[in-house]
Amino acid sequence: MSIYPIHSNPDEAVVKLTEHKVRESWRRVQFALWKRQNRRDRHYLLDVPYEESRVSDARKLYSLTSDSHQRAVMLGSAHSTACYDKMRGHEVREQCPFCGEQIPPVWEHLSWHCSAEQLSSGHPEVPEGELQNAKSSYLAGRGSHSPLKEGHIRP
Ligand SMILES: [Zn+2]
Repeated sequence: MSIYPIHSNPDEAVVKLTEHKVRESWRRVQFALWKRQNRRDRHYLLDVPYEESRVSDARKLYSLTSDSHQRAVMLGSAHSTACYDKMRGHEVREQCPFCGEQIPPVWEHLSWHCSAEQLSSGHPEVPEGELQNAKSSYLAGRGSHSPLKEGHIRP
């Protein structure tokens, strides 16, 4: 269905540009609404502005992921070992069960800093921005002993 009157016969490029702008406007609104939700991962991104190119990259990346664990990380629904401790009503352990360091096994540690072989192989570089930090750690899920596949990611 066209948003233009039938008799106006707009240039196809104008139509495509207009449709693109409508989609981008919708995405901006969705991002703003998402930041207002009561989600634990939104706190990392409150100061991150909407960027069309980053969202486009994220859409492309998401379409390339076929593993449900990787998609769970991108969507913010994967959990860390520390999170599972809390969800089970336990105290959060003070020692990472993978590397043995005296640090709680929270998202940031497991995703970017854990030295355990099973978690460190395939670690991408630590991202500079919070958006990339929160959403691109799906890469850590590559490999046969993925923390994502084992459900150990997310605070
Ligand atoms: Zn560790």
